[in-house]
Amino acid sequence: MIGIVGAGITGLTLSSYLEERGEEHLVLEATERPGGVIRTTEVEGRILDHGPQRTRVTPEISLQLEQLGLESELITVPPDHPLFVCRGGELRLVPFTPAGLFRTNLLSWPGKLRVFLEPLTARWMEDETVGAFLTRKFGAEAYENLMGPLFGGLYGSDPGEMYVRHSLAGTMEGLGVSRSILWRFLQGSFNRSSAPAAISFRGGMETWIRALHESVKDRVRLSTPVEALEPGSDGRGWRLLLGDDSLEVDELVFTLPADAASELLLPVAPELGARLRMLRYNSLALVHLAGETGLHGLGYQVSYGENLRTRGVTWNASALARNGVYTAFLGGARDPGLLELSDQEIGEIARREFGQVTGAETRVLSVSRTRVPSWDRSWTVLEGIRVPRGIHLCSNYESRVGIPGRISRARAMAEELASPE
Ligand SMILES: Cc1cc2nc3c(=O)[nH]c(=O)nc-3n(C[C@H](O)[C@H](O)[C@H](O)COP(=O)(O)OP(=O)(O)OC[C@H]3O[C@@H](n4cnc5c(N)ncnc54)[C@H](O)[C@@H]3O)c2cc1C
Repeated sequence: MIGIVGAGITGLTLSSYLEERGEEHLVLEATERPGGVIRTTEVEGRILDHGPQRTRVTPEISLQLEQLGLESELITVPPDHPLFVCRGGELRLVPFTPAGLFRTNLLSWPGKLRVFLEPLTARWMEDETVGAFLTRKFGAEAYENLMGPLFGGLYGSDPGEMYVRHSLAGTMEGLGVSRSILWRFLQGSFNRSSAPAAISFRGGMETWIRALHESVKDRVRLSTPVEALEPGSDGRGWRLLLGDDSLEVDELVFTLPADAASELLLPVAPELGARLRMLRYNSLALVHLAGETGLHGLGYQVSYGENLRTRGVTWNASALARNGVYTAFLGGARDPGLLELSDQEIGEIARREFGQVTGAETRVLSVSRTRVPSWDRSWTVLEGIRVPRGIHLCSNYESRVGIPGRISRARAMAEELASPE
């Protein structure tokens, strides 16, 4: 028997892959709702996502959506929609092609010339942060106005605190970058029309979770927090304490956040538990705004020099045909103090700053708070970790954060568990 702790997208997908392989298993979820950070609500008939707003469709995801019969529910983000960075109070186009890079008004001419020197610079170094690396490669102007906001925005993090080896190195490898990022860019590797499509669903991202949960629901126990762990009774496997109940498993997979995993592991694997507790998460506020703006594009990130607390805004109205909805992201590693403000204050900052940048009048529909693994320097504690026999970590702090990464990690985990040693 395999026990899976957590019914977010990773736990549910792992369940479906194990089901395909005929492996006996059970998913235990603390809350009454599957999906974890993927959560959708409806306010005044408008769909609001409080976690990911969309995802890229890899072949694995495409197959899963087809098996779940979700194709007719999909909304595809138009691949040619422009993305902007706010610099000097103005929205400026992000260049995705060599001609765009040449023409962009996001960088000064000296800033552009500095970018073109990148092939002469050396590859990343062992203890180099993403911020130091991108500044060394492309110059401070390009880092602060383009690469820093775009890369850091993925994690709500500060690239100046993230080691290349933990985060960017994997992305560069995926893009086939050996030494020069610019060279790959000039060859068209960053061309958005060749990238997998980005999608959401008519009813929001939780549509996917509901269908996935339905397909494995006999294997999922909701409202069943795992409260503690003990070694299995005959010296094999593990015993999960579930309030008045308990469950013996041969293999145990953790798909839950690092602090929750740490709490369960501390008594049985103190060193691992202590290390997981040291991983930092970034707290974010999401503010949903509503208004008829006429804006066309994916949204914008904010350059580091701006006097704004908003990190970026996704234009769901235009990218996902979402009835006047805009999602602003605030807080994160560069502004942790923001989360100490009240919801009302945070909502008002988002609304005012959105108006300042775009000229559009909106009103606040909702303010919610969430968090993401920061993948910063604290990730060195995971180097050389030893995980007890029969326990497997399968979470967005030990493998990639994005949903495509979660799905492929779940598949690899299912293969590992299903194959005899
Ligand atoms: C704001 C935000 C924006 C994002 N944007 C994108 C994006 O644009 N594109 C993209 O691809 N990805 C994005 N991501 C990342 C992606 O959504 C997440 O990495 C992914 O959904 C995490 O899923 P998970 O199942 O691994 O973990 P989680 O969703 O965290 O699920 C873990 C589950 O474990 C449960 N649990 C905790 N403790 C216990 C316990 N003791 N017993 C039982 N159950 C327990 C929790 O209740 C939860 O349901 C974003 C994430 C966030 C937060």
